[in-house]
Amino acid sequence: MINKGSLYVVSAPSGCGKGTILSEILKRNKNLFYSVSATTRQPREGEIDGVDYYFLSPEEFKTEIDNEGMLEYAQFCGNYYGTPKKKVIEKLEQGIDVVLEIETKGAMKIKKALRDAILIFILPPSVSELRRRLIKRGTEKQAVIDNRIKEAAEEINRARNYDYIMINDELDKAIEDFDAILKASKLTSRNNIKMIEEVLKNA
Ligand code: 5GP
Repeated sequence: MINKGSLYVVSAPSGCGKGTILSEILKRNKNLFYSVSATTRQPREGEIDGVDYYFLSPEEFKTEIDNEGMLEYAQFCGNYYGTPKKKVIEKLEQGIDVVLEIETKGAMKIKKALRDAILIFILPPSVSELRRRLIKRGTEKQAVIDNRIKEAAEEINRARNYDYIMINDELDKAIEDFDAILKASKLTSRNNIKMIEEVLKNA
């Protein structure tokens, strides 16, 4: 029997650098499957449909929900975001590890539905640093930034419900920490009961 894959759920406030950390992690761990989410928000410059997100109209998104095509979904800053279910379940059944990059309300829903999911929260060094990074990124207007900062504070408060919390202060260290979490999660006793039997064989 193939072991089921692990489901990693990563959350972090916008501008926290999670995209950079995750792209490096995915480069290092070639067999991690990154689940592309669906959203009703407008694409930012340079974002590609099917790569960054599946960009759906509100009607298309609602149809997906009605057809039970979403593993979870949530509203965030006025738009809908959701995890298409089919591929995630397929990969996990095949023993492939999956990463979801989603906000905290969706993450809580996942934890309720799939108890073995591993929740990782990436903290910014501070909220003022977060504001500075969002302004520097320049992809959002001031009002949107203010809204995202407010949302960020609420998200950070929910970090206490996560299994692992790491901080993105120095990028290299953050990547090492993330890698360490992936390794540690593979060494839990739950994942390695068979190893005990193997070692005890012919004792
Ligand atoms: P952004 O608009 O900056 O790309 O994303 C806004 C927020 O939506 C981020 O916190 C991101 O993690 C979250 N998000 C992206 N995809 C999903 C999803 O499939 N489900 C949920 N619940 N949140 C998502």
